[in-house]
Amino acid sequence: MNPQRMCVVCRNLVPREKLFRVAKTSDGFCIDFANKINSRGAYICKDKNCILSARKKSAFERSFSSKIDSKIYDTLEELVNDDK
Ligand SMILES: [Zn+2]
Repeated sequence: MNPQRMCVVCRNLVPREKLFRVAKTSDGFCIDFANKINSRGAYICKDKNCILSARKKSAFERSFSSKIDSKIYDTLEELVNDDK
């Protein structure tokens, strides 16, 4: 079985491996690369367009109903920026 999750930006159902998971922990937000963090999470496509519009639309703020560290957006942007 190939689990699918909804991207917080484009709202498409996407296979898990094509998404980044952002998790809300007691220490704040982090990107859950191993998909092991047992806490609320939100998914976003590993796609520059989705990641850039996430910041503009405050997609994670909406999803978590709270303020989120802007470093999460910075990190996501860095992750998709090295594809030339
Ligand atoms: Zn997306």
